[in-house]
Amino acid sequence: MKFEVLILGTNAALPHNNKITSAQVLNADEYLYLLDCGEGTQMKLEKFKVRKNKIKAIFISHLHGDHFFGLPGLLTSFGHHHRKDPLHIFGPVGITRYVQVVLDTCQAFLGYDVRIVETDTATSQIIYTDQKIQVSTIPLKHRIPTNGYLIRQVERPYNLDGEKIKKYNLSIEQIRQIKDGKDIYLSEGNRLRWQDMTLTPVKQKAYAYCTDTVYDETIVALINGVDLLYHETTYLDDMSKEAQERMHSTISDAAKIAVLAGAGKLLTGHYSGRYLTTDDFLHAGKKLFEPTLLSYEGLVIPI
Ligand SMILES: [Zn+2]
Repeated sequence: MKFEVLILGTNAALPHNNKITSAQVLNADEYLYLLDCGEGTQMKLEKFKVRKNKIKAIFISHLHGDHFFGLPGLLTSFGHHHRKDPLHIFGPVGITRYVQVVLDTCQAFLGYDVRIVETDTATSQIIYTDQKIQVSTIPLKHRIPTNGYLIRQVERPYNLDGEKIKKYNLSIEQIRQIKDGKDIYLSEGNRLRWQDMTLTPVKQKAYAYCTDTVYDETIVALINGVDLLYHETTYLDDMSKEAQERMHSTISDAAKIAVLAGAGKLLTGHYSGRYLTTDDFLHAGKKLFEPTLLSYEGLVIPI
């Protein structure tokens, strides 16, 4: 089952050099989700050939412009593309008012439902579940209310026990029901439990998206053992004083969190515009946490 992240934007604060601010697409078995939506997100969705109408939900970390100024244009474009499926939007308090004001001002007619849920940035809560993923919030410490998102694959035993399927001579429909986690009833009235017809499920993967935040060990318990951790790295270590003041993280801050959380890999990003290349982030990160990766536009990482 596909579970991967496509990076659309990595800049902190503002777009420049044809690069945009925060935006990522999570693909869970062709169910798509957007994590943040910086200005220019639509252009990158086009560039990387993302099927926009497959986006089921948008998760906004906080209401600094570099994380959500791409939202209104995307919402009206969905309308132009004749979207019919509802769209879920999550974000801290204020996101509803923002979307309403923008849509009212331009008298937009979308033609589909927008379902906005404002997140509680102080406690971790499960906010969204569908057939593919479950999403919970990660409270973060930043200058305004902010939360990250922990995305887990939904536990679903999809490996069928071929011997048993053969033994009971099941139909395609019955096999589909078992895959969906439903028991089936044979004509004689016997019930077959889906658990008995499947093999032990493979480990479900998890992705933690943590931006923007100052170094904060309290998130470690929430993201413990994630396969991939995206943690903002606005600055290199020589800017640690400024990172503290501006409530951002350095590369070593992020690497330390990855070590404490026992993450499988660390994905860096949200790089300050003061850096012309990101090579130094890689070297510094690897010193503390070897599986450190740089993010760049167009990168696809299987989780
Ligand atoms: Zn911010």
